Amino acid sequence: MPDILLPLMGASGAVLAFFAAQYVASLLLPGERVDLPDDDGGTHVFKFNGLAALILTLVVVGVGQALGWFSLSALYHNFLELFVAANLITLLLAFWLYWRGKDAPGAPSGFMRGFFVGRALNPVWRGMDVKFFSYRPSLIGLALFNLSFAVVQYENHGEITLAMALYQAFTLVYVLNYFQFEQGMIYTWDIMSERFGLMLAWGNLVFVPFFYCIAGWWLVDAPYTLSPVAAVLIALLFAVGFWMFRGANQQKHRFRQDPNITIWGRPVETLDGRLLVSGFWGIGRHLNYTGEICVYTALLLTTGFVAWEPWLLLAWLVGLLAHRSHRDDLRCQAKYGELWDRYKQRARFSMVPYIY
Ligand code: NDP
Repeated sequence: MPDILLPLMGASGAVLAFFAAQYVASLLLPGERVDLPDDDGGTHVFKFNGLAALILTLVVVGVGQALGWFSLSALYHNFLELFVAANLITLLLAFWLYWRGKDAPGAPSGFMRGFFVGRALNPVWRGMDVKFFSYRPSLIGLALFNLSFAVVQYENHGEITLAMALYQAFTLVYVLNYFQFEQGMIYTWDIMSERFGLMLAWGNLVFVPFFYCIAGWWLVDAPYTLSPVAAVLIALLFAVGFWMFRGANQQKHRFRQDPNITIWGRPVETLDGRLLVSGFWGIGRHLNYTGEICVYTALLLTTGFVAWEPWLLLAWLVGLLAHRSHRDDLRCQAKYGELWDRYKQRARFSMVPYIY
């Protein structure tokens, strides 16, 4: 048997067990349920218990780590095997999604498009939206990888550096916030309009957990010390970015639920009651993206400039979100027509006032 086969089988078992545990937790844990119409004319049930699933996972791994049942450092030491296993399992999932979506309304024709982009908008298995669920192993997996870097640093060097502590705080706030605000996710483009195929499945189950943790990986043995002054400045950037990112998303979510809310102490202003022009949405059309870029810049600054590789994440995010804002403009132009032109006159810039 080739040397790689046994570790790969172990890693595949671990990834499958993790996915299965998250699925069962998502089915069983209590949470509010919401029915929403989707773009294919169907109705969809979402259950919001991601925060409970995250907390339960953190408690279980925290207790297991403290009692010495296992060490999270195994994630770091078996990163490559886990990565290969996650790729293989996601590929199998994509075949299943393709087969499952054979009768989906409006599915793209042809194997390549149907397999890559996806056929069904919101495939359901055992009463759960599989696409909505996929964000749980994605972000909980990311949180576990990040924690494993702190454990390895402690095991190797006997301390957690200031840079690592700051990185852990930022990433934990980011993931906790995602699940605390899980209700807002159902109004996002991915959930409402993107079909679920290899592209989104791979993005969620492989790319996010294995690539978005790149800065933490570099911090494990980082040969430098972050000064307290730099730490305060980085934390400030994180706070401002987070305020913009979370604030903009929340304003839109609150407006969608009740068009008569107040924003920043004033009654909400809209265009024909359909588009929000108060708060962040009156300043720019995608300040939520800008906020997220600031959050990741702060996160990456914890690595200083010890290596260029962590900065690949920022290059990726800037490219992704700038392209996405352009695609979203086209989508909204098609949906809202003249109203979108009026909105563009009101909020002239997309992500950076006076620049873009
Ligand atoms: P948005 O949450 O910005 O949603 C865009 C949609 O909001 C539009 O298509 C339109 O949809 C509606 N909308 C736009 N302008 C207005 C307005 N003025 N008033 C009311 N509704 C408006 O985009 P995404 O779904 O792309 O992103 C959600 C979050 O996810 C963002 O914070 C983003 O940063 C994050 N994200 C993170 C990624 C990562 O890899 N880290 C990747 C992608 C996103 P409609 O009118 O049809 O409702």
